[in-house]
Amino acid sequence: MIKSDEYLSPTEKARFEAGRKKFLTAVALVAALCVILSVISHFMLLDDYSWIVLPALFAAIINVIVRSWSYKCPRCKKAPAAKRISFGEEVSYSSAIALMPKQCSHCGVHFKDFNEKS
Ligand SMILES: [Zn+2]
Repeated sequence: MIKSDEYLSPTEKARFEAGRKKFLTAVALVAALCVILSVISHFMLLDDYSWIVLPALFAAIINVIVRSWSYKCPRCKKAPAAKRISFGEEVSYSSAIALMPKQCSHCGVHFKDFNEKS
């Protein structure tokens, strides 16, 4: 038997999805920047443009960190982790954040609202 409090309310779900989308967009932006830069570096010397390349990359990475703050479980306010981390949480922080979590690893709430049957 499924209890309704094991699922997010539509409001919580919307907030969670909004935070997740912003976080994923920020991650995708960094990935896209890295791909673009590696492609461009085959055609031209990026050293001459490091004054714009480095701040852009830096800003994109800062963006990921800022977005990850708003990306958390609406129920227990903890970042959804791919698995429980029992050591050096700060070190493995970024790699441990689950991008497509089904369930909160902290409080066990399911990241879909009660009406979703899938
Ligand atoms: Zn939680």
